[in-house]
Amino acid sequence: MSKQSENDTLAILGGPKLINHTFGRYNPLGPEEVEAAKKVVESGVLSQFLGCWDPDFFGGPKVQEFERQCESYFGVKHAVTFNSWTSGLVAAVGAIGIEPGDEVIVSPWTMAASATAILHWNAIPVFADIETETFCLDPVSVERSISEQTRAIMSVDIAGHSADMDALRKIADKHKLRIISDTAQAPGARYKGKFAGTLADIGGYSLNYHKHVHTGEGGIAVTDDDDFADRLRLIRNHAEVVVEDKGVTNLSNMIGHNFRLGEIECAMGIEQLKKLDRMVKSRQRIAQKLDAGLAGLRGLRTPVVKPDCTHVYYVYSMSVDVVALGINRQRLHQALLAEGVPALGASYQNLHMLPMYQKKMAYGSKGFPWTSEICKREVSYAKGICPVAERLHEAEFLGFGICSHEYKDEEVDMIIAAFRKVWRNLEALR
Ligand SMILES: *Cc1c(COP(=O)(O)O)cnc(C)c1O
Repeated sequence: MSKQSENDTLAILGGPKLINHTFGRYNPLGPEEVEAAKKVVESGVLSQFLGCWDPDFFGGPKVQEFERQCESYFGVKHAVTFNSWTSGLVAAVGAIGIEPGDEVIVSPWTMAASATAILHWNAIPVFADIETETFCLDPVSVERSISEQTRAIMSVDIAGHSADMDALRKIADKHKLRIISDTAQAPGARYKGKFAGTLADIGGYSLNYHKHVHTGEGGIAVTDDDDFADRLRLIRNHAEVVVEDKGVTNLSNMIGHNFRLGEIECAMGIEQLKKLDRMVKSRQRIAQKLDAGLAGLRGLRTPVVKPDCTHVYYVYSMSVDVVALGINRQRLHQALLAEGVPALGASYQNLHMLPMYQKKMAYGSKGFPWTSEICKREVSYAKGICPVAERLHEAEFLGFGICSHEYKDEEVDMIIAAFRKVWRNLEALR
């Protein structure tokens, strides 16, 4: 398959670069989206939200059509759109009734917004460690992180695979906690037949331009709970001026925002959602090809799919056994990049290592909320609190971005060939 050139010397060591090819940028938009957007523009109604208790409190025709379509696709009672999933996460934390000083357990192996949504309500993120196989929250570490102040778990279905929802639900029930699922990277992934994101009290998906399906920016929250859905819609749209006329009696966190998504985005979202199955299948096909092509490379672990789960491969998450290989991850990463492998990352963040947490400085300059009386105990963000996430970040993780390009079979073959070339030359790399 991989035609070995005469000169097999690694590019990083002065040999010829194996992949001399430009990978086309991923673009899931087609004539359907163009037509849908055009119709909205021609209608003259780019948004129809009103921030008061009125039929238009729920948004215009495309917002509502898209939400109903999401409800039927994901099999949930309520879908609520947002102008980003970051906004959706903020609204979700508010909707479940988190109070200042409450603790919410969250993964450090995620995008920053999973944790800042918690801080937004002056609540305290507590980082629990992740599983080595799925990179999602480790239920054992979650249970160990529970304190008197814990009120919720923010589970992240990272890279395209669901967290262990049965185990998390068991813990949540035992300790009376709510669960929010940040399923930004796993739309369409299944957990025991259900869609990832729908097993939490509130879950949801991102529609930003580098996710499986997108509207440029946007997000969708899903829930089966009527009250949470109401509160999500209120926080989305100027809650404080709506509550009186709507007859809302629970005023906690009824601080509104403008988190509303536009008509153009929703019209395009309707078309995008129709393509989600196809997008997911194409990534699964690429991943299967990679699985087969990379099988047997010593010390390289390809993504694990747990029983009763499906993976939608936002990122093809690998880890390397650096001890067995005797080469550090940075060196392997550099060698693969030098051969022309695209979209190869050496890590997700370790959120707890960000300056905001290390210095405990968020609101203002005096350490609020950690230094405030609302924070009932010293929460540690010290290096060492999440050993698995830290080890992966510092030494072992390699992630290939399947969602960022539209890979053709020949291109996947090139990528496999580059890995195989590097692995043939491990001795020279040491
Ligand atoms: C993309 C992403 C978000 C944020 O979504 P936006 O729509 O960009 O605001 C949150 N969490 C995770 C895990 C993500 O990948």
